[in-house]
Amino acid sequence: MSFKIEIGAVNSGAGSSENSYQLVIAGGGPAALSAAIYAARYGIKHLVVESWQPGGQAALTAEIENYPGFSSVAGSDLTNAMKQQATAAGAVFVMETVESAEEKNGKILIKTDLGQYTSDYLIIATGAAPATLGVPGEEKYYGRGVSFCATCDAPFFKGKKAIVVGGGDSAVKEALHLTHVVSELGLVHRRDKLRAEPYLAKKLVEHEKVTTWWNSHLVEVTGDDQGVTGVILDTPEGRKHIETNGVFLYVGTVPATEPFKSLVDLDGKKAVVTRNIVGTSNPRVFAAGDVTNNGFRQVVTAVSEGARASAAIFELLENEE
Ligand code: NAP
Repeated sequence: MSFKIEIGAVNSGAGSSENSYQLVIAGGGPAALSAAIYAARYGIKHLVVESWQPGGQAALTAEIENYPGFSSVAGSDLTNAMKQQATAAGAVFVMETVESAEEKNGKILIKTDLGQYTSDYLIIATGAAPATLGVPGEEKYYGRGVSFCATCDAPFFKGKKAIVVGGGDSAVKEALHLTHVVSELGLVHRRDKLRAEPYLAKKLVEHEKVTTWWNSHLVEVTGDDQGVTGVILDTPEGRKHIETNGVFLYVGTVPATEPFKSLVDLDGKKAVVTRNIVGTSNPRVFAAGDVTNNGFRQVVTAVSEGARASAAIFELLENEE
């Protein structure tokens, strides 16, 4: 084997003359951090370009109870530990936002808000952002009662009323987190059955502070100068105005693939279409975690995919020389 390991990757940053890598990892959540740990340990000359939200969506989860080895861990503690582990292994990070990625002269050219990098390989691990409902008041009152993160914003609603919209794992977990602080919690779901893990779903629905609004749709967020005052729901009993101070939206996610759309095939939901779990339609590009169409979106699968992607690239680099 004559694999050329370029030890001592440096944080070259924007404007540096040395902006060329064997691997760029785009993202900062569990998939990217796991890929970074493996890339660093394999001695691949790499750069992790993480955006404004270190730790990704997992870092915004109050409690993770299904990551093996921890019966309960705060999402931010888990992702901070992953980052420390990656840094200790020699992973190199820049906090920049990837704006575009394209193929140029047999390499991948990655442009960020602060600079540009060329790389032999790219791992897309940019995760997904919360989906919105697109109803009146949602955008207007964002940050003034409308939130996509109970873990971050729950303290503002101590002793107040809140509602959560959605029926997946995120809605149920974050709603349970809110029950510790709010006086009353409404759960609004468009069907009469939650898709979340049954153990947590039961715990939420049976909680004394929780009122459920089944087969119901949030059609407007109302408010005044101070922020949110209520919501209008379409329910099986007709249209209702419910008083609330907080509206937490967990109606799914949108994969963060915009910068990569010319590089790899995306499905109808904008997720990266994978082959053999971490491969993509482009042989120089791999993908891992919530940005993919792999389906089962868990921290444990994201870290596994990140590791697989770096391992696959290590093997390719090894065979290139
Ligand atoms: P999700 O599973 O896609 O759930 C989204 C929820 O929003 C669904 O209940 C859906 O209703 C509802 N919804 C979608 N569009 C809507 C609309 N326009 N109006 C009203 N309701 C709408 O999303 P998620 O809960 O964010 O989870 C994303 C992934 O991460 C999932 O794979 C989940 O398992 C995983 N996750 C795992 C954990 C964990 O700790 N294990 C925690 C968080 C997330 P329907 O049910 O009718 O489709």
